[in-house]
Amino acid sequence: MFKRVLLKLSGEFLANDNGFGINPETTAKLARRIVQALDGTDVELAVVIGGGNLWRGARNGQGMDAATADYIGMLGTVMNAMALQDAMESAGKPTRVMTAIQMAAVAEPYIRRRAMRHLEKGRVVILGGGNGAPFFTTDTTSTLRALELGADVVLMAKNKVDGVYDSDPRKNPDAQLIKDITHLQVVEQRLEVMDATALTLCMDKGLPIVVFDIFQEGNLERLFRGERVGTLIKS
Ligand code: UDP
Repeated sequence: MFKRVLLKLSGEFLANDNGFGINPETTAKLARRIVQALDGTDVELAVVIGGGNLWRGARNGQGMDAATADYIGMLGTVMNAMALQDAMESAGKPTRVMTAIQMAAVAEPYIRRRAMRHLEKGRVVILGGGNGAPFFTTDTTSTLRALELGADVVLMAKNKVDGVYDSDPRKNPDAQLIKDITHLQVVEQRLEVMDATALTLCMDKGLPIVVFDIFQEGNLERLFRGERVGTLIKS
């Protein structure tokens, strides 16, 4: 049974059908799914939200200064964090948005001990602004914050992919789902889980990762209740 978990959501989970923007209805559905899954559990939840639905530093910022492009990406994640907060609170769950880049008019600054206090009080902490540093992704934010907040696990939510496969299931119909694997095997086999910096940090610190399909009914409920879902990566 997990006590404290860090859930990584891609920005695309909030997007319109074309993968861009923030769709309030889509966001509301996702928020309800998370709030319902938490209901009746003692799980403390921190969420890291990406920004790929609004901006991807390297891809959208071609020709721009790379660091500036990444800062734009980080600001995008704050927009997503605010949208998710609104939707989760409409679903009845108290939340706090905390940002790695200070913007006191819209959210609290990220302060580790304050974040832990919110978690202890049962508030969902939504972390915006990535690490606050360019040249990273929100995968690294998930690992970093999970480690410093003392989370038991990083839950890497995927859309219609129910875990890690031995080859790409979209290209190979015989691809097999892997239920248990070590961090080192993921690195050696170059399996797609999270970016390499984030993965090696998890490996170094022995932080378990679960890769699962958040859009499959019941998966989050089962995970929050300590059941096995998707792929478990551990040392
Ligand atoms: N980003 C960054 N530093 C961070 C986190 C994010 O510079 O610590 C920027 C980066 O440009 C990235 C963008 O924010 O492309 C959006 O984050 P990400 O690609 O991780 O979002 P996701 O794919 O999970 O939606």
